[in-house]
Amino acid sequence: MLERLKNDFYLAMLTLVGAMIVLCVTPYGLYRLYTGNIVVGIADLLMVTCAIIATRKAWSSGDTVKPGLFMAVVFCIGAVLVCINLGVDGLFWVYPFLVFIFFLVSPLKAFALLVTMLLVLLSYAFWRPGSVFDSQFQMTSFMVTTTISSVFAFIFAYRAQVQRQELKRLATTDSLTGASNRRTLNDQLAVAIYEFTKSARQYGLILLDLDHFKQINDNHGHKVGDQKLIELIPVLKSMLRSQDQVFRFGGEEFVVLVADTRPADLNKLAEKLRAGVEQRMMLPDGSYLTTSIGVAQLQPGEDWEAWLHRADMALYQAKHLGRNQVVTG
Ligand code: GH3
Ligand code: MG
Ligand code: MG
Repeated sequence: MLERLKNDFYLAMLTLVGAMIVLCVTPYGLYRLYTGNIVVGIADLLMVTCAIIATRKAWSSGDTVKPGLFMAVVFCIGAVLVCINLGVDGLFWVYPFLVFIFFLVSPLKAFALLVTMLLVLLSYAFWRPGSVFDSQFQMTSFMVTTTISSVFAFIFAYRAQVQRQELKRLATTDSLTGASNRRTLNDQLAVAIYEFTKSARQYGLILLDLDHFKQINDNHGHKVGDQKLIELIPVLKSMLRSQDQVFRFGGEEFVVLVADTRPADLNKLAEKLRAGVEQRMMLPDGSYLTTSIGVAQLQPGEDWEAWLHRADMALYQAKHLGRNQVVTG
């Protein structure tokens, strides 16, 4: 549980907001009901209920987008109702709300929701003068201060989002080729084992190691070697489906994780990749790069280390048998 909170920023924030709402709003809701303000009491308790439902849903489904949006919309409606019914007393709640809405949904959605909420409140105040604000001056001050706070919260959240995405990209991809890195491969192999065990989804591994790559570096220079590694990714991807994933395993070794495949199809695909590299990866002297390939279909009871090891053994054999060929493990 702590691991999930640590790894999933939006889930952690949604849980924090949910817990804060339950702890802070429940006493107010009960107090409003006790003092006879039924509309605000019910609105408060409805917000608490929605916060619990959304948090539970995010934990069970792993999806934080829909529960976050649901919570944000409910709170917007709740905030308008509370302001309309409580007047100035309710306005104070808008300030924490316009900060934590940025933890629930993406910055643009949060900003759009806030603008809508403030416009609805403003329209109501014009329609029923004196119902929300005590004076025109108070209304202007409220609108100016909430707008300034929203704009700065938006800028802060947007910057944080861009940095978080960049950090994620740096942590999960290989800087030379742009392919997913070994850390991501380990995660995705674990996901594959989970789905195979849970829903019998079939998976295959194709492990490629470019042949005589050291010689290519020696003959044509390291720069050409780098360029070939970069070129390889689009060549491989052009022969794969969108759900197949390519990883740089290290140096000049690459892994393709193939979902929803059977052994015969996996072998056919591996052969297609081998032939594709041989036909399309031309070197400066007019010769072509080749690759040896080890293939392994995930077997029942196997962990990902054993599965990868089987593909590696098959690859080793492909090298041993003379390179530029596919061997199944
Ligand atoms: P084999 O057919 O047995 O696989 O021979 P090989 O020369 O490809 O195998 P070996 O593992 O001996 O050498 C791999 C070479 O790949 C050595 C290294 O210089 C080169 N290499 C690894 N990473 C990079 C890289 O990022 N850029 C370049 N240009 N070369 C790399
Ligand atoms: Mg190698
Ligand atoms: Mg090699």
